[in-house]
Formats: sequence, structure tokens, C-alpha cells
Amino acid sequence: MKKIVVAIDGPAGAGKSTIAKLVAERLGYAYIDTGAMYRSVAWRFLQTGQPFDETFISHLANTMVIQFKPEAKVNRVFVDGQEVTDAIRSTEVTANVSRVAAIGAVREAMVEQQRRMGDAGGVLMDGRDIGTVVFPNAQLKIFLTASVEERAQRRYKELLAKGEQVDLVQLQQDIADRDKQDSERAIAPLRQAEDALLLDTSHMNIEQVTEKILQLVEERAQ
Ligand code: C5P
Repeated sequence: MKKIVVAIDGPAGAGKSTIAKLVAERLGYAYIDTGAMYRSVAWRFLQTGQPFDETFISHLANTMVIQFKPEAKVNRVFVDGQEVTDAIRSTEVTANVSRVAAIGAVREAMVEQQRRMGDAGGVLMDGRDIGTVVFPNAQLKIFLTASVEERAQRRYKELLAKGEQVDLVQLQQDIADRDKQDSERAIAPLRQAEDALLLDTSHMNIEQVTEKILQLVEERAQ
């Protein structure tokens, strides 16, 4: 079988990373979480304590080194050698990431790295613009979504299991706000590529979605 590029896009909390990780494991493919890259830039910027400034943030994005170290359960993320795996999931980073990701020069820096990482194939990449901008010729494109209520519920359960205090209504509002920002930005907005397959997972479990994508990869990799 050929080693193809699989692009998985979709709104926040649709389960892209959970599914992409599982499918990558089953196929022996690399998994690249592009959201973690934008989160890393937002984290780096927040660390500086400086006011929001596009030129400054673009400079950070162009000079920082982002590395992934995949392990069995987690995909560890490092910025300039410092581990940020948990730090980039903080509420503060989540609240600021869409603003940072809307900056053109930040996107250029990230997209260049993403193309380098995926060029050889055998990769699953998830994000918002993978099928539309990063790999418009990907052999398989999936647009993974679920209702905002369902996505908020899933995130709620996940956070509760981690012992975090969360308000479901607030969570749903935050997800809807981030989707709006990501869909309405001028550069590389979140949208389904014309040739992407829409997979609404509102009524599917993780195993069903994983199996469906594995089957699609098998077809496309012939
Ligand atoms: O996937 P995740 O929710 O971690 O992504 C965090 C944010 O990074 C998104 O809300 C979006 O603003 C940005 N992002 C992006 N393009 C990508 C991946 C993520 O703009 N390819």
C-alpha cells in the first residue's frame, strides 16, 4: 500500500486529535497535531507578557523551535527544548490561540513546517486548513464534525474526569466563539474542502469513526 497524506479538518472538540492518533497508530503513520503548533505560538507569546502585536508575534513564530515527541499515550510537545504538552491546553492559551492563528505571517511559518513534515506521506495531519491550504492535494480529506452540544458534552466529561471544575454552558459558548473566529478569519478560515468527506460523529463512537477512516485510507492508498 502507498503511504498517503490524510488531512483531517473540523471545528473545535470534534475529536480530531483522538481519532487521528488512533488511526495513525493502527497504520504506522505519523500524527501531526497542527493545533498544538498554533497553541505553542500563543503560549510563547503569553509567556512574554507583552501586549498583542502582530509583528512581535510573527517574529516569535519564525524564531521558536517546535518539536513533537510522540509517546504511547501522549504526543509530547516542546518549545525551544521546554516541554509545553500540558501548558498549551490551558484556558488562557485556548482563549488566545485563535487571535494568534489569524496572523498571516504566523500561518506562513507554521504551514511551511507542516508541509516539510508531511511531504513524504504516511502522515495524518489534523487542523482547520489542512485540506484547503496545507495539503490541497492530499489523497484523503475528512471534515470531522459534531453538533456543538455534543462537542461541549464530550469536552465536559473529559475535563471532569481530569478533576477540573467546568461550567457546561460556558464551555459550549467558548467552543462556539472559537469556531466563529476560526471560520470568519480572512486567511485560511475553517471550512470544508470541496473534495473532503463530511463525517458527522454526533451519533458515532470513537471505534466506529476510527474504523470508517481506516477503511477510507485503505481504499485511497491502493
Ligand atoms: O485543534 P485545536 O483546537 O488545538 O486548535 C487550536 C486553534 O489553533 C484553533 O482554534 C485555531 O485557531 C488554530 N488552528 C488553525 N489552523 C490549524 C490548526 C489550528 O488556525 N490548522
